[in-house]
Amino acid sequence: MSKKTILIADNSLINRTYLSGILSDEYDCLEAVDGQKALDILRERGIDIAAMLLDLVMPVMDGYQVLEEMSKDPGLRQIPVVVVTAESETSVEARALDAGAMDFLTKPIEPEIARRRIKSVVNARELEELHIRNRLLEEMQYQADHDELTGIFSRSAFYRDTRAMLLANPDTDYILIRWDIEKFKLVNDLFGMKTGDQMLVAAAESLARHVSDLGTYGRFGSDNFLICVPAASLDVESFMDVIVNEIRSSFEDAGIAQSVVLATGVFRITDHDLAVGQMCDRAGMALQTVKGDYTRHVAYYDDKLGNRLLEDQDILDNMEAALANGEFEVNLQPVYSLSTGRPASAEALVRWRRPGKGLVSPGVFIPLFEENGFISKMDYNIWEQVCQIQHMRNEKGLTPIPISVNLSRKSVYDPNLVESIVGLLRRYEIEPRLFRNEVTESAYIDNATQLIKTVEDLQRYGFTVLMDDFGNGYSSFNTLKDIPVDILKIDMKFMEGFERGGRVGVILASVLRMTKWLGIPVIAEGVETLEQYEFLHSIGCDYTQGFYFARPMPYDEFEEHVAGLPKAAITSPARFHVDDVVAALGSGHLFDRVMDDILDAYAVYEFNASALETVRGSEGYFKLFGYDMDAFKRESSNVLHHIVHDDREYVVQACHEAIETGKPCNLAISCTVRGGEVCRLHLTLSCVGKSNDETALIFAAFHLIDNGCEGDLHASCPYASENVGKHVF
Ligand code: C2E
Ligand code: CA
Ligand code: CA
Repeated sequence: MSKKTILIADNSLINRTYLSGILSDEYDCLEAVDGQKALDILRERGIDIAAMLLDLVMPVMDGYQVLEEMSKDPGLRQIPVVVVTAESETSVEARALDAGAMDFLTKPIEPEIARRRIKSVVNARELEELHIRNRLLEEMQYQADHDELTGIFSRSAFYRDTRAMLLANPDTDYILIRWDIEKFKLVNDLFGMKTGDQMLVAAAESLARHVSDLGTYGRFGSDNFLICVPAASLDVESFMDVIVNEIRSSFEDAGIAQSVVLATGVFRITDHDLAVGQMCDRAGMALQTVKGDYTRHVAYYDDKLGNRLLEDQDILDNMEAALANGEFEVNLQPVYSLSTGRPASAEALVRWRRPGKGLVSPGVFIPLFEENGFISKMDYNIWEQVCQIQHMRNEKGLTPIPISVNLSRKSVYDPNLVESIVGLLRRYEIEPRLFRNEVTESAYIDNATQLIKTVEDLQRYGFTVLMDDFGNGYSSFNTLKDIPVDILKIDMKFMEGFERGGRVGVILASVLRMTKWLGIPVIAEGVETLEQYEFLHSIGCDYTQGFYFARPMPYDEFEEHVAGLPKAAITSPARFHVDDVVAALGSGHLFDRVMDDILDAYAVYEFNASALETVRGSEGYFKLFGYDMDAFKRESSNVLHHIVHDDREYVVQACHEAIETGKPCNLAISCTVRGGEVCRLHLTLSCVGKSNDETALIFAAFHLIDNGCEGDLHASCPYASENVGKHVF
């Protein structure tokens, strides 16, 4: 170890030589002949000087002045000074100590005492420095280990502690869990960063409370958290339920009405030597697979996922070349009109013909292209191919058929979208009506204003805009209200969930009614079975697209398919299933709500020869007839006896007319209502379905004309019984 340096400031050569002689075994000794020289050396060498022996009486600058100068300079203040005094004089020593000296030596100087004093001040200072350094190190370590916002462990501390835990427990199976809060950005946007921060703190506290005894935990960054615990110590699903509930209640406490969903990825640690960072990456990959998925919140990493990531990379490496080589091909899937039984339009769906790998479906590559932006180039290429197809059909003089293309979210937000499409159409001389655009409902959730603007721009140029995947997002009804789309495509999820008499049928029927009122045609996607087709027909759906009719096919095949179809090949009269229609009309909350807004009293009857049995009635209907549930059960089997005797026959006639013509039939009748009173009612009857055994379902809407016309009914009411059977509106 190199020697420490001592500065000896004394104007007497003898003293300096004497002191150096005593100390030079242990120290390197520097000498200064006066106070100024001493200060110069101190300033130059700074804290290299372990201590200074300072004579008080010197020319140029005396010892007191040196001490004063040193006290002003933070760099010099810490250098310990031992003052050398001529004689033992308490007042001098006290003054020197006050001025900042640490100790003193009195002449004549005892060598042993000098060595000890110097040693002690040097040690004292070193100890002090060590303390300071330790404190600083501790602080730095704490800061590095703890996340500034939440106070729980940082990512680096988590890595280190997890590594140590795994090394110490080589025989225990661990899992690494990584989770984040879905749509957390929304909390910041809607409620401010401060609230967002509070939520993260609440999340971290919840984590610390439950995991500190089990294993390691920490914050990965933003709203992303980490846990590593023995696999046997918890059940991931129920554990995450506990955490999400605690976060939810902290949201509630803060008065935030925002749903909280956590997306969780789990990596099972089989190889304890894998870098913890890599384990986090893998849990992160699993997490990505459930992000935005409202049906599944927890996913486990497996090798398949790892391989998929390699495949994803392969796709990204090859996409540009594929575009240049024309490997992206258009397939067409016909959309059938249920009334003509023929294709009314088609949808262009991309397929990637990869050399050596066959046809790759868009589900594999579109999400990647959407992420990296390549989707714009690919989409443009597909639009161009669709224009080429239309141009070719036009040249051949084939019956025009509109083809729709899918606009990715990126395209929807592209300010030059309309210009690009219009440019293509001009180049290939295509009418806008033959080029349809499908926008997805999810684009509405991301940026409603931009989507509405794009839709309106497209429509201004004469394009038809279809709303794709309707019902998939959570704001479907807002979408319908706000976006002026021309055609609605109902998401195929509805078809997947369809079963006779089930809830899905009810929802579909309600959606269809609503779109009828709004005048928007509907295409049902994903129709795969006869049963689904028949149901759609029975509730009046206009168009369907699905494997039941035709799969997406290459252009040549499409042309053959269209040409080979006999006219009206698939129009079969829809078979009527009472269950479907009753379910569709009778038990949907949404349907009831909408209908109640429009009509007050309405009912659905089963009509058989001459009896009308109530299947379902609205609240207004019960009120009108003064029914309670018991009376309803008692009297619902044939409601005709509520009608004044003379008018009953007209109602029966009107039912037959509605069934035969398929059109609504209006009439005015007199009824006994509310326990005895006779009243004039306007009634609209329409047939909503027929079965093979002469039974029909009749939908009836009632309208009170005048409830105070007892006695001379015919004279006081605008509608007389003679009008029965005639369309009075
Ligand atoms: P999408 O727009 O909802 O297209 C309908 C998808 O349903 C197509 O899948 C089609 O093949 C499939 N499909 C049709 N009928 C049935 C059926 O009866 N049952 C079932 N299970 N499926 C049926 P595909 O071709 O795999 O396309 C998947 C998605 O990829 C499309 O969903 C669309 O969002 C996107 N996509 C396809 N082509 C393009 C494109 O050129 N550009 C963009 N941006 N997206 C595209
Ligand atoms: Ca589509
Ligand atoms: Ca769709």
